[in-house]
Amino acid sequence: MAEHPRHYDILIAGAGFAGSITALVLNNCGFKVCVMEKGKHPRFAIGESSTPIADMILRSLSSQYNLPWLYDFSRYGSWQQSHPEIACGIKRGFSYFKHYPGKPFYTDTRHSNELLVAASVSDSMSDTNWFRSDFDAFLAAKLKAYGIDYYDTTEIEAAVRSNGQWTFSTNRKDDKMTIRASFLIDATGSGLLAKKLFSVKSSAADFLTDSFAVFSHFDDLPTWMEILQQKNIPTADYPYNADRSALHHILDEGWIWALRFNNDRTSWGFALNGNNASLQKMSTDEIWNTLQAKYPDIHRILSKSALSAEPGRIIQSPRLQGKLEKCFGDGWLAMPHTIGFIDPLFSTGIAYSLAGIERIVQMLYENRDFDRPLYARLKAYEATVFEELKLIDLLVAGCYNTMQHFQLFNAWSMLYFAFTIVYEQRRLNNLPVQYFLEAGNPRVQEIAQTTYKDLLKLTGQTSISQQEIEVFTDTVRERIKPYNTAGLLNPAAKNMYHHTVAEL
Ligand SMILES: Cc1cc2nc3c(=O)[nH]c(=O)nc-3n(C[C@H](O)[C@H](O)[C@H](O)COP(=O)(O)OP(=O)(O)OC[C@H]3O[C@@H](n4cnc5c(N)ncnc54)[C@H](O)[C@@H]3O)c2cc1C
Repeated sequence: MAEHPRHYDILIAGAGFAGSITALVLNNCGFKVCVMEKGKHPRFAIGESSTPIADMILRSLSSQYNLPWLYDFSRYGSWQQSHPEIACGIKRGFSYFKHYPGKPFYTDTRHSNELLVAASVSDSMSDTNWFRSDFDAFLAAKLKAYGIDYYDTTEIEAAVRSNGQWTFSTNRKDDKMTIRASFLIDATGSGLLAKKLFSVKSSAADFLTDSFAVFSHFDDLPTWMEILQQKNIPTADYPYNADRSALHHILDEGWIWALRFNNDRTSWGFALNGNNASLQKMSTDEIWNTLQAKYPDIHRILSKSALSAEPGRIIQSPRLQGKLEKCFGDGWLAMPHTIGFIDPLFSTGIAYSLAGIERIVQMLYENRDFDRPLYARLKAYEATVFEELKLIDLLVAGCYNTMQHFQLFNAWSMLYFAFTIVYEQRRLNNLPVQYFLEAGNPRVQEIAQTTYKDLLKLTGQTSISQQEIEVFTDTVRERIKPYNTAGLLNPAAKNMYHHTVAEL
């Protein structure tokens, strides 16, 4: 077995955007870093919609760690101006459309079956849908440009720790190599590496949310705005073109995401309630066909669809939720997305991964020798991540509970938008942010938990009256009042929120 002559401070496993950006930042902090990826770029990857929080963190990483080119990726306009060759999509906000079984989509002048929440003021200033295949490949190329050793199609087979050093046995297409490093960052996006190397278990047992996904990329999908127009549904008071957003179709069984890119591709997928016994018994094709047969306008969209060359097939995930039982050990730590994942609803993934980079880099920068004080910080990191996953889980679980009652869904989801406002405001005002979405803020926790209990009481009933829905909505409005700078749940807004975040 060949021994690699170089000794690294840090080996990062996984060259998704999180692993690559972490490597670039740590390299600029003076660490000797290498990145090991089991696949090869460009490759298909799911998880694409950014948020204002993600953009803020990208800008902050860019300026703090001297990566000026990263800044451009924080807005659609600057991204496409500097890198038109890297596909992405405009994401002006979050849009939701409720569909009822057997009925074409319909609504009324109060937009009772729609919810549009703007996050940015214009297309050029907007968040983005990342075409991960292009973007992740660009970042991997940057690794090389910065002189960071990058091994693709390589996996770690074993790790031995002795005298504060790792010796990794790696395998690249049967070419075995030994690599030494002081520290390992697991950015592989699943619990499998931690399980293989450190016997750390991953489990979904703690989660309230139980969902799975069926998804792919499609070419030339008809736009939803076009379909609304054909149906004579007025859209004049929409805050933006709904196809230029993270577009969600809400079904009784779960929800659909539609994220468009500017290369005529759309990431389109169902995220479905895992408690649905009949769906659980079906094959991927049966699920795809059954849901189209049940929802006429979903059929209308998909009947004209063609699978994109990549991935070229419809993918079904197992249960999406998972959480490692520990987030670090002697000489290693896992990044937040590797530690746990709940569900793509609210697109927390990219922002959360980026927030993790900030945190991890800070910890390592301040503990360059990887000695004892680092582990006290890692203990706190673990507690923080677990608390954050708990809040995201609660917010998402509440949504799955209300998908049959769109007014309740609408009211409940305002907790996410309100907590986002609190977190964004803290960041904008340069106040310390310890927890993603203020998950450790006792008031936020109390509001989330109390409201979740109220919600469960309602959705556990055999029927829910309009008056009960209105009382619940009033309660949420009252509870989020201290944070609600965006007029959320103001009846005059008619579910159309023109701007929720502070000027960025
Ligand atoms: C169905 C679905 C939809 C999603 N939608 C959204 C969304 O709209 N918005 C959002 O913000 N987030 C979304 N997410 C979450 C999103 O995928 C993650 O936040 C994001 O992918 C994190 O990127 P990453 O770089 O950490 O991990 P990944 O993209 O998972 O990258 C990990 C990399 O590690 C490599 N790897 C794996 N194992 C090994 C190994 N043993 N050794 C070396 N390399 C390895 C993989 O090949 C891969 O390249 C979604 C997730 C799912 C499952």
